[in-house]
Amino acid sequence: MPKTFKNYINGEWLDAISGQTFANVNPSNIEETIGLFPRSGKQDVDKAVSGALAAFEQWRQVPPPERGKVLFEAGSIMKSRKKELAVILSRENGKTVNGAMGDVQSGIDMAFFAGGEGRRWYGRTAHSGLKKRFAMTKRYPVGVVGIITSWNFPMAITCWKTFPALLCGNAVVLKSEENTPETTVHFAQILEEAGLPRGVLNLVHGLGPEAGEALTSHPDVAMISFTGSSAIGKIIGKNCAGRLAKISLELGGKNAVIVMDDADLDLAVDGVVCGAFSISGQRCTATSRVIVHASVYDAFMKKLLKKTSQQKVGPGSDDKSDITPLISGKQLERVTGYIERAKKAGARILSGGSRLKGDVYDKGYYIAPTVIDNVALDAQIALEEVFGPVLVVFKADSYEDAIAIHNSAPYGLAASLFTKDVNKAFGFFDDAQAGACYINGPTFGSEPHMPFGGVKNSGLGYREAGWAAIEAFSEVKTLYVDYSAKIQNVQFEKKDAEQ
Ligand code: NAD
Ligand code: MN
Repeated sequence: MPKTFKNYINGEWLDAISGQTFANVNPSNIEETIGLFPRSGKQDVDKAVSGALAAFEQWRQVPPPERGKVLFEAGSIMKSRKKELAVILSRENGKTVNGAMGDVQSGIDMAFFAGGEGRRWYGRTAHSGLKKRFAMTKRYPVGVVGIITSWNFPMAITCWKTFPALLCGNAVVLKSEENTPETTVHFAQILEEAGLPRGVLNLVHGLGPEAGEALTSHPDVAMISFTGSSAIGKIIGKNCAGRLAKISLELGGKNAVIVMDDADLDLAVDGVVCGAFSISGQRCTATSRVIVHASVYDAFMKKLLKKTSQQKVGPGSDDKSDITPLISGKQLERVTGYIERAKKAGARILSGGSRLKGDVYDKGYYIAPTVIDNVALDAQIALEEVFGPVLVVFKADSYEDAIAIHNSAPYGLAASLFTKDVNKAFGFFDDAQAGACYINGPTFGSEPHMPFGGVKNSGLGYREAGWAAIEAFSEVKTLYVDYSAKIQNVQFEKKDAEQ
């Protein structure tokens, strides 16, 4: 019998009220069921939200440096359990343990960063336009924050959202992602052990259209912070707009690397290959397009295809795997569907292009790293997010041409330029429509103390992480103290004010 896991609601570990469960399997070996998780519905979410609402009243009054201490403690516990957490994460996500260690470390880093913000939660003061009047701002929590995450970085994304939200004094209801719920069980246990008061963090497992929908449409949820696809982000955005709840949406990408004629081609190939194929391209910041200057196109492609052919596809249990499996059968269908439609539209498959078969490959959803060219600029595979190890190559005649191709995608998350020309590098920051730009590096590599997020279809609302997280998860209050002992107002006509 697989292990049964529970929701964490108002300090209690509970089954779904309906008694229903869903199974979670190991994507590196789908014969292995990891556990059964509560398939929660509206009633469970209601219970979690009322617990959070009650706990919020106390938590909002705890001084921010004290709230920060709970996060420091959580970070320390995570640090002491890092390897164990990575093994659990690797088993349900499919990435290598080594890769999972990075995921956990990113969460630890956020615990300490957000914890420190407890002593840096600054407001502003300003001189008033009137005499003897004091003007300042302070930040306050939003209320109950609903957090919905993606499975690709189950620990990092959960920590990047939840820690800043808690630091700001919010109470949280976290809906785990159904492919990676076990990681969040440990996350909740760690916060419980770190001394977070009951009800301040609630964890509800379940499916998107059930538990997720109940959370995003709950009238007492003041804010939703979501990481996932743009399609679901739009549904959530509508739900929240209906009651003017605050939203922060971190969505998909169609990220490109531009390789200029003066680029270090070996460096560019290394950056493109790891950006496109590691964790099977299942990053919001994965490199899914490479735009190569015509004069180095042939030389670049030769190196790219050679390096691609050297990638080792294998299970997460083998740290030597360069490329691990897709998360689910649904993802497999999605990715192979994109490749098939591209072929029909006339694209040329230069490498990979299909599911791998035989031996360990039959136990999971393994796709060969795929490189495609001969793609029209308006083809589906040129514009839509695939979320698999699939790279589309374009040729550009100039920097301007490359930028036009780059910006033709409806997404704008991460962009990268390989060049030695400092003028082009800085020009790229101005020209690329993206939330993050990299020079001579892959399209991923965000750091916890720096803001993160995208433009166009890649996001809406706020940047998260870094100092921006504080802005996302709190509200500014503007505060005035009049010590003139007169009723004065900047909107009065001067003669009135001076009477
Ligand atoms: P998804 O949108 O299908 O699911 C994400 C989450 O939304 C899950 O927890 C799911 O249960 C929930 N959900 C689904 N339907 C819902 C509904 N109707 N109401 C409320 N919640 C609902 O995304 P996915 O395919 O699992 O994840 C991959 C996507 O996430 C990609 O598009 C990727 O680019 C994106 N992503 C973005 C970032 C970022 O920070 N920008 C990071 C990681 C992943
Ligand atoms: Mn799973």
